[in-house]
Amino acid sequence: MTWSLASYTARGGRGLGVLREDGALVGPAGLERWPTSMDLLGDWPEAEAVLRDLDVDNAPVIEYDALLPPLQWPRKVICAGVNYRKHMQEMGGEIPAAGWRPFFFLKAPTTSVIGPRDPIVISDPARARYDWEAELAVVIGTGGKNIDPERAGFHAAAYTVCNDITARGYHRRDAVPADAFRYDWFAAKSVEGSLPLGPGLTPAFLVPDPQDLRLRLWVNGELQQDESTADMVCPVAELIAAASEVVTLEPGDVIATGTPAGVGAARGLYLRGGDVVRVTIDGLGTLENTVKED
Ligand code: MG
Repeated sequence: MTWSLASYTARGGRGLGVLREDGALVGPAGLERWPTSMDLLGDWPEAEAVLRDLDVDNAPVIEYDALLPPLQWPRKVICAGVNYRKHMQEMGGEIPAAGWRPFFFLKAPTTSVIGPRDPIVISDPARARYDWEAELAVVIGTGGKNIDPERAGFHAAAYTVCNDITARGYHRRDAVPADAFRYDWFAAKSVEGSLPLGPGLTPAFLVPDPQDLRLRLWVNGELQQDESTADMVCPVAELIAAASEVVTLEPGDVIATGTPAGVGAARGLYLRGGDVVRVTIDGLGTLENTVKED
């Protein structure tokens, strides 16, 4: 049975448990050593050895009030720019056959990340034009700089699901003195509450091949994105290597690996109050967030 590490609230307190595939949250013996997922990731790879031996099937069930974001908080949230071939095509271009280098932007961790069932609270949707982006996220255990792609698997502790909510209307700036100032990535990408994350952290040893995962996203029950991570231009290992050329990766960093085709912008569709956005990656679980206008 696959499972993930989930953070929860119960009777006013917080804890770390295991979210099983059957929907139960359980507390296997051995996990109590780490109060939070950040503590656990900081002990990687020793923690990995403990996780491999957890008796998840026979662990006691935890009665909980709500699921929190699985990391509180990621140390960095590093997001890959366009990284799926069909998504580039729907946005009007083609990934070059050779010489493509991945690029990244940041989201502010503590204000962007929200839990797997939390509302996505939006303001001024007509101007901001909020869009969805279903993505596979990889979570770093052991940190490093200038990581060799061949060694990336040593650094990837877990995988989870995210939705890189994007305010398309804030991205391109019109009245600028030069093209260098054309794009506002901060306003478009780091808007408050723009990264539903979770429901849990699935250890990498439970994910046989991160380049063979099916992602799907629905808005109000209508399927909008349905793609395999096989369509990525730069696989997860190369993204880890490329990001670590820029900065030291640290335990608890999250790298969002880009979104496949099917975003709203390509068809002029944007989120509105009352919409329900559901994202699933097979084997990793589901995010379900309702959009609320403030
Ligand atoms: Mg994205």
